[in-house]
This record gives sequence, C-alpha cells and structure tokens, in this order.
Amino acid sequence: MIEAPLTEVSPVPPGRLLDALRRPRGSVLMLGHVHPDGDVLGTLLGLGLALEGAGWPVTFAGPHPVPDSLGFLPGAERWQVWTRAPRTFDAVVLTDCPNDERTDGLLPAVRGAETAVLNIDHHPDNRRYGHVNWIDPRAAATGEMVFDLIRALDLPITPAIATNLFTAIHTDTGSFRYSNTTARTFQTAGELTALGAEPALVSDWLYQRRPADALGKLGEVLRRVNVSGDGRVAWLTVPRELASDAFVSAEDLVTYPRSIGSVKVALLLREEGPGVVKASLRGKGDVAVNRIAHRFGGGGHENAAGCTLEGSLDDATRSLLAAVGEALDGRAS
Ligand code: 5GP
Ligand code: MN
Repeated sequence: MIEAPLTEVSPVPPGRLLDALRRPRGSVLMLGHVHPDGDVLGTLLGLGLALEGAGWPVTFAGPHPVPDSLGFLPGAERWQVWTRAPRTFDAVVLTDCPNDERTDGLLPAVRGAETAVLNIDHHPDNRRYGHVNWIDPRAAATGEMVFDLIRALDLPITPAIATNLFTAIHTDTGSFRYSNTTARTFQTAGELTALGAEPALVSDWLYQRRPADALGKLGEVLRRVNVSGDGRVAWLTVPRELASDAFVSAEDLVTYPRSIGSVKVALLLREEGPGVVKASLRGKGDVAVNRIAHRFGGGGHENAAGCTLEGSLDDATRSLLAAVGEALDGRAS
C-alpha cells in the first residue's frame, strides 16, 4: 500500500525516501525529462548504478536521448528513448524534474496503482507530484542531494558513480562559477574526486571535444547577439536552419550574452520547430528570471530558467523582451 504523499524541503534525505530505496522491491525506473542535461543524467545514472549494485533491476529512460556531449557518462549507453512507456514499474525515481509534464507523458504511463514515485529536486517551484518529494532549493545541483542520499543508504560510490555525480554538479554550477556554488558544492566535489571522479577528464569531455567546424559556426551564431540600449539585456536568437540540435546542446550559448559586464538578464531564443521557440533565461541576482519564465508557463531557478513560447522567433523575442523590461523596471506582476 502506498502511504499518503510526503514532502520535505530539507538538505537531509527524508526517512521515507531511505525506506523506499533501502531494500530492492521489484523494478525501478530512473526517468528523465525532456532535453536531459548533465544534472538529470548524472544523477539518474549515478543513483541507478548504486541501486543496481544493491540488487535492484534498474531501467534508465526518458523522452529524449543523451546529447552527444554527455555520451561519456558511465552507463549512458543504457539510456532508452521512449515515445511510449512499455510497462509500469514498482518504483520510479525522477531527479531535477519540477513537474510531471516535463516527462512528455511518460510518468503517468509508467505509474501503476502501487508504483512508488520518488521525486528528488532542487527547483523551488517543484510541483510535488511524487509519493515522496524531497526538495532542497539550496542545493546547487541535484547531484549534491543524490550524493548525500547514496551515502545515507550506505551504498558504495564507485568511480563510475562519482563521475556521474561530479558531472551533474560541474554542469549545473557552470564549472563552479555561478552563485549557487557553495562550500557544500566543493566538499561534495572534493569527496567525489577522492572517490575517482577526474575533473580534468570531465572538463575535457565537456569542453575540449568540439568538431573542427564548430568555432566557425559559433562565430556565425554569436554575431547575432543583441544588447539593449541601456546594456542591461542581451539576447541571442537562433533560427532553426542556422544550427543543428547537436551544436545547440553542446554549446551553452546563453553564457555568451550573459558574459557581458553590464548585462542583468541574458536570453537565448531557439526556434525548435515551426512556431515553437525554446527560451533560456539567465540572471545575475537583480531579477528572478524564473518569475519571468512562469509568466510563459515555464520555470526554473532564480538565476537560470526556461520556457517554451508559441509563435515566430520575432514574436517570441518581442514578448520575452517586454516581460524582461517590466521585471527590470519593477513592474512585473
Ligand atoms: P535551460 O535554459 O538550461 O534549458 O534551463 C535552465 C533551468 O530552467 C533548468 O533548471 C530547467 O529545469 C529550467 N527550465 C528550462 N525550461 C523549462 C520549462 O520549459 N519549464 C520549466 N518548468 N522549467 C524549465
Ligand atoms: Mn539541476
């Protein structure tokens, strides 16, 4: 029998989560969300490998594939891409996933009457859709939380697991540069390094494996950066035909407009398909960009958020710039 849902907003893993994972109880699915990044993949693979070591039969899957740039993560070759779920599972673990819509319909389909849904996340706007919802908005990455969870479960952290968790933390902190980076981040990263994660190797895989034509393409794309007259907003629009999906997921394009000194809010708008624009928003502490993203049905963190808009690239850019202008002028709703 599934007990009533439990939510804990805490840096400490809830006892109910430990109880659910302590002994193998049938099959577990590590379920990803759309466009999986280093934090979601690193934590699902890291925790899944730890659970497998404890005797759970583990399946790894999500609606979208592992991007090439993260193909080095140990276990990535086991990632399955599902448009439809093949069956239900006894337990489903989601990490870094603020709402079940981000599974593209997979969560409702793998969720049977007795399935335990375990939701582990650091997004403040997490919608608490699990039976156990463990949320720690102060964690820089879900990687920090999963490290503490595996430790609390007394499971060994192999070099493969350490590499996954280290990458989760490395990517969500922008290589330990963003304001979410804390002493806990470095402590966890230090322990993971002692356990076999190799920081130089992870950086090498993430940043030193560009194809030969990537810099020319980057130059072409970056010429499109715009800066507002007052210098506070910079944005980059990428039409569909300009850059491949692989290029866009390998290059963290929004970091370039963000890197301008005067900029308070940086935007990347990518045309994903006809009439569909994916936006990435980045802030530097002046305005909470997740509040802007919420206005368009998206979400995220105070300084890193995203949303999807319908309409042309020009229309989406105009709408988002208007909302950013209002937020910067203190007129946002
Ligand atoms: P990115 O811009 O790298 O895609 O995402 C930055 C942050 O915003 C991540 O924490 C991500 O989970 C969140 N985010 C991005 N797009 C969406 C979205 O469409 N909906 C929600 N709720 N969060 C999003
Ligand atoms: Mn994250």
